[in-house]
Amino acid sequence: MALLLLLALSFSTALSAPTRPNSVTKDVALRYLTSFGYYNAIPHASQMDSRSSAALRAQQLELAVKKFQSFAGLPVTGVLDQPTKKLMTRKRCGIPDFNAIQREGFQFKWDKQDIRWTVEKFSDDVSQGDTRRAIGQALSVWQEVIPLNFIEVAPGSSEADIRVGFATAVHEDAYPFDGPGGVLAHAMFPPDGRLHFDDDENWVYMDVEKLKKYANTDLIAVAIHELGHSLGLEHSNDQDAIMAPFYHEQVSDKPHYEVPPLHEDDIRRIQRIYGSRNDGFRPETTVPRPVRTTTEAIETQTRIEVGVEGGSPSGGGNAPCPNQIEDSAKSINGATYVFADSNVWELQGQRLQNSRPITAVFPSGPRRVTAAVTNPRTELMILFDQRTVYAYVWDASSGTFHPHRDFPKTLSDLVTFTPTAAFEWRDGNIVLLGGDTFATYDENWNTPTFVHKTTDYFNGFPEDVTAVLSNGQPGHILLVTPAGGYGYDMNAQKVTNSDPIPRQQFAPCS
Ligand SMILES: [Zn+2]
Ligand SMILES: [Zn+2]
Repeated sequence: MALLLLLALSFSTALSAPTRPNSVTKDVALRYLTSFGYYNAIPHASQMDSRSSAALRAQQLELAVKKFQSFAGLPVTGVLDQPTKKLMTRKRCGIPDFNAIQREGFQFKWDKQDIRWTVEKFSDDVSQGDTRRAIGQALSVWQEVIPLNFIEVAPGSSEADIRVGFATAVHEDAYPFDGPGGVLAHAMFPPDGRLHFDDDENWVYMDVEKLKKYANTDLIAVAIHELGHSLGLEHSNDQDAIMAPFYHEQVSDKPHYEVPPLHEDDIRRIQRIYGSRNDGFRPETTVPRPVRTTTEAIETQTRIEVGVEGGSPSGGGNAPCPNQIEDSAKSINGATYVFADSNVWELQGQRLQNSRPITAVFPSGPRRVTAAVTNPRTELMILFDQRTVYAYVWDASSGTFHPHRDFPKTLSDLVTFTPTAAFEWRDGNIVLLGGDTFATYDENWNTPTFVHKTTDYFNGFPEDVTAVLSNGQPGHILLVTPAGGYGYDMNAQKVTNSDPIPRQQFAPCS
């Protein structure tokens, strides 16, 4: 036993995944929090000057640590303490945790009752027959509680919905595996359905003696969890659930292997999607959303944009051309919405078109919008009416916005000003502006991650910005003040015109 432990320890130092709390440095924690969705995943560090970006990063790290601790059921200290570091060394699933909270309003789902599956690539650890049995057993666990049928088809069959395989390091998708320990597997939501196991783990099939060793991993247990994703489930913050992100060691005194049962949280969540086996199959009511990180999804996204442009009437709307605009935001549907008075326009070809009352586009929304922005990470369009925060989910299947059920909220007191404009800085931060002050903001936690004097961080910004317009040029924004508009180059961090551009010139009505 001692020898085995020693071997395991010396082996572990070579791994890329952290295996001991002491190996969790700040950089390791930052990588961990980034890959599992707790920290701003935009690859470039803040483009603000280094003094300010260090302070901002420290505050964002603290918030990310708090989110992780809260999701994982640890005391929320915001500090990288020993229990937090220890949890970061646990074996776990590779799918980010934070999607769970942020994709409210959508459900990944198969829209048919018969789901075909196949194992395409095997591991040397487990025989082909046992691997196929493991997947079949794991699917049975789900099949007992929902009205879907799982049918195995030949490897490579074009009929397969769920394709299972083993892979190491960089493989066919955007999520490279990390060697032994750390991430064990990942799976894609419907309609993708792919499931990959990290072949750098030691996979074990139904062998209780082998499973007592930390270095070995239970194939069936991980398969049940991953197939939950393939069926549409996100991670659960119920630590006892099969869908909790962390691997549960199989410590059992029983002489025979027992297939891990679903927890009541898993059953409740999967039945919310598909109904129960007793009720029978429910026909599809919503179109599942594609997984965004695949090429296929990007193509879908492009088609959505084309669809919106083609579908919306050009011109149209009877609202008088506004003298001042309140703010604007580009939606994930590709359209840029400009708010003025109680109306919303679409900015098409640098012209304001298609005016409608705000509440006609944003149901149960504010009558007036004083600041607006889309968070690219959550895809929510966030509208402010003074200090009331609304959030909208774009539903591509119906081509409409739905209010997010957790909103409206009253803006956190920690934002010490009333926002007059909101925009996405080039590093992905959502920035709220008000007078000479700004805040970076997280709508899910309704909290600023940083508040400071604007001119200390955004070089050359006028102090009376009432709206920020994106003119379609990457890295460029238009800062709108009562005197007119100023172009701003976010890379060079400077205003590009000395005389303000008149309102009628940068956004004329058609
Ligand atoms: Zn998972
Ligand atoms: Zn993969």
